Amino acid sequence: LEPAYQFMVRVRAPGGVATPAQWLVMDQLAHKYGNGTLKLTTRQAFQMHGILKWNMKKSIQEINASLMDTLAACGDVNRNVMCNPNPYQSDIHAEVYGWAQKLSDYLSPRTTAYHEIWLDGEKVVDSQETEEEIEPMYGALYLPRKFKIGVAVPPSNDVDVFSQDLGLIAILEEGKLVGFNIAIGGGMGMTHGDTETYPQLARVIGFCTTDQVVEVAEKIITIQRDYGNRSVRKYARFKYTIDARGLEWIVNELNERLGWKLESAREYHFDHNGDRYGWVKGSNGNWHFTFFIQNGRIQDVDDYLLMTGLREIAKIHTGDFRLSPNQNLVISNISNTKKKKIVELIEKYGLTDGEHYSALRRSSMACVAFPTCGLAMAEAERYLPSLVDKIELMLDESGLRDKEIVIRMSGCPNGCSRPALGEIGFIGKAPGKYNMYLGAGFVGDRLNKIYRENIGEEEILALLKPLLLQYAKERQEGEHFGDFVIRTGHVKAVQSGLDFHD
Ligand code: SF4
Repeated sequence: LEPAYQFMVRVRAPGGVATPAQWLVMDQLAHKYGNGTLKLTTRQAFQMHGILKWNMKKSIQEINASLMDTLAACGDVNRNVMCNPNPYQSDIHAEVYGWAQKLSDYLSPRTTAYHEIWLDGEKVVDSQETEEEIEPMYGALYLPRKFKIGVAVPPSNDVDVFSQDLGLIAILEEGKLVGFNIAIGGGMGMTHGDTETYPQLARVIGFCTTDQVVEVAEKIITIQRDYGNRSVRKYARFKYTIDARGLEWIVNELNERLGWKLESAREYHFDHNGDRYGWVKGSNGNWHFTFFIQNGRIQDVDDYLLMTGLREIAKIHTGDFRLSPNQNLVISNISNTKKKKIVELIEKYGLTDGEHYSALRRSSMACVAFPTCGLAMAEAERYLPSLVDKIELMLDESGLRDKEIVIRMSGCPNGCSRPALGEIGFIGKAPGKYNMYLGAGFVGDRLNKIYRENIGEEEILALLKPLLLQYAKERQEGEHFGDFVIRTGHVKAVQSGLDFHD
């Protein structure tokens, strides 16, 4: 008798965009084959958990029939391309999303194995064809490790563009998209106890026009393909290739492969790396509602029928759903004629812009961790909300309830919730124990620093309380918590991943 192995299926959605019909398929499959919930990930993808091995093929086939897929949602290839779902600038968003989609399509593996294995496709490979002919960019061996791309539209850095292997910053001049600043070598993962591994921020190396961006991305990926570490997997991410060879070497190599040089980086400015909640009207007259979903988990719980409410909305919605990079959701492109009915459903099911929560909770993010992630060392998604309950008491006491403080928790140092970019960050070490980090930049432009190692809830709260009270009393005008803990000497500012462990 075969054991009932269960799996997680991750569904790719470039830029996090899904049609209402696709939403309904995800909902249906989560109930039919999964554990009856959906997880919106920090990379704007769907995850379904608890799929039994013998249902894997059927799930993937039904996902594929909805015109979504799981191809390259995992593996040593370019992953789901993230893109700012900023409804404030919907014309620009649409254009930027178009480039994210082009990048995603161009950088997808060409292999037909996916179709052969999962979709009962005929074996279409000509036996004379070499692996290089099948996969002209990835070649026979694919990449040394996964590769991540995110596209930000300033002033929002919600994709955490500096956490990406390749971060693209949209440059707008006179209201028009003219190109992208290129940032390379970000990544959150590390291994506990190995200081040769560290989170790193991508560094801006120049600018290219829109029509050059696919070529630039391709050439950057080929550099990692050719020079990434294939001997030791934990040193294989692009950030280590860059730090081993030097940024200048990489830029020269890139210019050589392009046959032309990147221009100097253009001016840009980020205000935040979180989501902006509530209603906005887009330039085409349609409406967008961004609302808070705690840690991206879509489920019906007691009297909060989130999953049912979204299903009812999907049945009548004619726009789309956009998964935010912070695990929240935008019900997007709501026409004036549909708005009244959708508002009624939003109210009926209590879908919330999170106004009654603290700004810290609305800026919180946790990875899956236990019970479904096999790599978890500690709880994250199931624990952070109760920790935030206790922190909120301190926020109330100190008058900080409406102050945005970015707080993130991951169950292991892989850092799926980008915890090294939390003004308060937690990375699991063992059940109930976390390393606590402080001092990341509010806009996602500085890593945090370890503050205490291997501590439990009691100590976390005991440490946070005086810090928050001091912040409430002594912060300067407009000063964010991450900057405050550095100015007041609680932690040193991290300049680069290379000094993360110093
Ligand atoms: Fe799993 Fe670790 Fe990623 Fe959390 S950070 S989802 S525990 S791999």
